Amino acid sequence: MSLPAKVDLLGLNLQELTNLAVENQQPTFRGKQLAEAVYRQRIPALEQISTLPQNFRFHLAESGVDIGWPEILKRFVSHDGTIRYLIGFGDGESVETVWMPEGDGGEAGDGSDAYEDGEQQHLHEWHRATICISSQVGCAVNCQFCLTAKLGVKRNLTAGEIAGQVLVILRDQGVDVGKERINLVFMGMGEPFLNYDNFMKAVRILVEEVGIPESRMTVSTAGIVPRIEDFAKESIRPKLAISLNASNDELRESVMPLNRKWDLEALIGAAKAFPLRNRERLTFEYVLLSGVNDKKENAREVVRLLNGVRAKVNLIALNPGPEIPYSTPDEQRVHEFQNILIDAGIPAFIRRPRGLDIYAACGQLKRTEELVALR
Ligand code: SAH
Repeated sequence: MSLPAKVDLLGLNLQELTNLAVENQQPTFRGKQLAEAVYRQRIPALEQISTLPQNFRFHLAESGVDIGWPEILKRFVSHDGTIRYLIGFGDGESVETVWMPEGDGGEAGDGSDAYEDGEQQHLHEWHRATICISSQVGCAVNCQFCLTAKLGVKRNLTAGEIAGQVLVILRDQGVDVGKERINLVFMGMGEPFLNYDNFMKAVRILVEEVGIPESRMTVSTAGIVPRIEDFAKESIRPKLAISLNASNDELRESVMPLNRKWDLEALIGAAKAFPLRNRERLTFEYVLLSGVNDKKENAREVVRLLNGVRAKVNLIALNPGPEIPYSTPDEQRVHEFQNILIDAGIPAFIRRPRGLDIYAACGQLKRTEELVALR
């Protein structure tokens, strides 16, 4: 006799939940009840889903079905309010997910930082919050300035594990999705476009079942060109950010080896072909590395590269880390770079680091257990 195969409800869409109900001789509306219980009410355990008949709950459990919630293993709290969560999965693997009350500044200039009517009546001291989500355990892309690269890639996350990070944090923070403004950025550990199908399935569940609008989501890619082309065709999709990080091929190859596979011509070509919605801009992220890619000439090259792209640029002064062979440029240099872009008509913003003291900032997610103040 073999044990029943384990099935997690988390990660199943409404159609799949409905199929599961019907396979168990239940009416189709039980699918909707399952979706409500998992994605809206975030009920901790199957046996607590009181909208379902007792025998159906029992039968599901008997046949190896569970909700499959990830577990919050640790919380590291920054003095700026950012929380780095260590989140564990059934097989013992874990990732980090970051909660940023008041956002990460990355939304600046896209209109989402303006409060809408009625939003003053929030339930918490924060007006809005951003969750930074991981898509893989580790990362295979090997960007030379990023700590996650040091882990290599262990495995892809499932759709349930991607959406589950959001849900356990919403529950931990007591968030009412209908009343409070939540932004999602797929910018944590891993390269979302190397786990494309699971990432997109999680997005659709977060939009359709959890109720977070796609307009409040942004995915960042290191530049997997064929997947940018696929993403362009999606009917439900977050906004797109591209990690540019260098102003010419030679430089980009040295800091992001994947540029050998998809060079700037291919990348900018895909960006130009990307269909933007009303008032939407493509975001280009640019990590400034002192003396490497932060010269005035680099800024001028970026202006030329982005000519003809409806773009905005987010500048990030390097967040340092052990074994990262670069240093952070001083503030004046960052401003000079920004001004060259702005003078050329490109909206450019400086992203303030969040949670730097707890290793929660961009490029610092490495499941670091010790707390070291870096600056
Ligand atoms: N793999 C995706 C998403 C994760 S990285 C991508 O590459 O876009 C998210 C952002 O953090 C990227 O724009 C990346 O360039 C930036 N980043 C990585 N390491 C950093 C560091 N040490 N300091 C500042 N930003 C960093």
